Amino acid sequence: VGEPSAQWREYRGAPTGTDIECEGWRQEAALRMLNNNLDPEVAEKPEELVVYGGTGRAARSWDAYDAILAELRELRDDETLLVQSGKPVGRFTTHERAPRVLIANSNLVGKWDDWEHFHELEAEGLIMYGQMTAGSWAYIGTQGILQGTYETLAEAGRQQFPDRNGLRGTVTVTAGLGGMGGAQPLAVTMNHGVCIAAEVDERRIDRRIETGYCMARTDDVDDAIERAREAAEAGEAFSIAVHANAADFLEGLLQREFVPEFLTDQTSAHDELEGYYPSGFTVAEADVLRANDPERYREESLDTMARHVQAMLDLQERGATTFEYGNNIRGQVQEYRSDEVPDPFAFPGFVPAYIRPLFCEGKGPFRWAALSGDPADIHRTDEAVLELFPEKDHLRRWIELAREQVQFQGLPSRVCWLGYATDEDGTTERATFALRINELVAEGEISAPVVVTRDHLDAGSVASPHRETEAMRDGSDAVADWPILNALLNCAAGADIVSVHDGGGVGIGNSLHTNNHVVLDGSELAAEKARRVFTTDPGMGVIRHADAGYEEAIEEAERSDVAVPMRDR
Ligand code: NAD
Repeated sequence: VGEPSAQWREYRGAPTGTDIECEGWRQEAALRMLNNNLDPEVAEKPEELVVYGGTGRAARSWDAYDAILAELRELRDDETLLVQSGKPVGRFTTHERAPRVLIANSNLVGKWDDWEHFHELEAEGLIMYGQMTAGSWAYIGTQGILQGTYETLAEAGRQQFPDRNGLRGTVTVTAGLGGMGGAQPLAVTMNHGVCIAAEVDERRIDRRIETGYCMARTDDVDDAIERAREAAEAGEAFSIAVHANAADFLEGLLQREFVPEFLTDQTSAHDELEGYYPSGFTVAEADVLRANDPERYREESLDTMARHVQAMLDLQERGATTFEYGNNIRGQVQEYRSDEVPDPFAFPGFVPAYIRPLFCEGKGPFRWAALSGDPADIHRTDEAVLELFPEKDHLRRWIELAREQVQFQGLPSRVCWLGYATDEDGTTERATFALRINELVAEGEISAPVVVTRDHLDAGSVASPHRETEAMRDGSDAVADWPILNALLNCAAGADIVSVHDGGGVGIGNSLHTNNHVVLDGSELAAEKARRVFTTDPGMGVIRHADAGYEEAIEEAERSDVAVPMRDR
């Protein structure tokens, strides 16, 4: 990727305040969000342009980063910039209501759509891994996934122990404290539970402790078990990171006959070469092995993954409620080590287990960032969301917890799950909230525009047979027309940035997904865009699941008057 850009060193995060470098706020928002993704407080390895999720990058090279910034500064209000795998490749006159930036990352033609071809092309400098929100400039740090993780664990607790208060008195074991996985300990403690998380990289552990996501650390398995057990018995919320390889750690639990109530994993198993660490090596030793002998690294890494999944299966057998957390560890073992572990899919993925009913109602992780950089602007939006939806106790608890416990990283931002559900005027939940933020910007109660975006992991924006579309009722798991329609619809509705990516979460060839941004600058145009985008985008979740035969989605479509042709086919 070359030497870090001098501009990036100067910015060290998004520019803030009300003066802008670009012709308009839509272009300025893109420039700020790209720099926010690469803020050292936000990104995992910003000097390599890596934002999170293994090698998820924000730009293909440092030269491409400089070129994107130069283009954004020149981009007119009636032009659209095209970005192909993190490199600006064209600029056309379109019109004011069209997107300002269109992005396509990591996409390959079906027959070539695997890591092998991807790595060959990457080595030639022709493509980039954009993960989900890395290459679409919508990453906001570990806080971005926190509510999703919190909701998932809350639902796991409700299903397994309906009489307990969240996860109180239970232990959740997981691994991986990276950009996304780092949310797990805090999500468990917010649900009153106890978390033990194995992580090989001490720097990641320290980062999560410094930022309040994890409470304690240890190098000793017995110590971790004892402290977790004590806290669970006392009904206290507690989290501890264990400096260990996940496979070794889980085998250690089996030897000691310690069975947690919940078990999952968020190591970057989707990428056996650049995401997952093999057992028997320190991080530094493994990094040397990867550079010198990538083939051996892959083999070692896949061997460890097979042991890791086998240990998860054994703990499941002994009573741990076990699920995959969207990193394709089951798929990897099925593809490369099925002789050793014949049925890695014996535990479910988190979407069919806990999240799909939300998707049926068009609910998903709506997120927004204050371009001013002023936390007061986000606090005003916190109040606004509570004023708008006073009946939602769950939302109130989330916003209160987030205000209390989540440190901002980079631009002050917030996430909350909102859905399609319309009010009597036919305005969706997401649009209602976006329109209110736009008003607050217009009235000057918020000091600068706010950008609203979302994770790619949303109701109608992903095809990912090992994750978001695992075990769809009609068997349509691998049909990728849906995210493509979603991206086209986002353009038609006038989102300000629209992106289409391959391979996020689960690795190249395993998913296709999209994202959008709308810049709320207080104008009539922003209101028009917000109303359209935040209706059509969650609406895709409703129609996608209605088409697959989910009653909850069909009911939501009827309730909210969403047109579903051939509903009774
Ligand atoms: P990351 O690359 O920032 O962090 C992964 C962490 O796992 C690193 O800290 C690494 O040191 C650690 N690790 C790797 N191998 C290990 C091993 N064998 N034992 C212990 N620790 C190990 O990635 P991330 O952004 O945290 O994402 C983690 C995974 O989750 C990825 O596969 C990603 O695609 C997936 N993901 C899931 C969701 C979701 O909502 N479920 C969302 C985003 C990403």
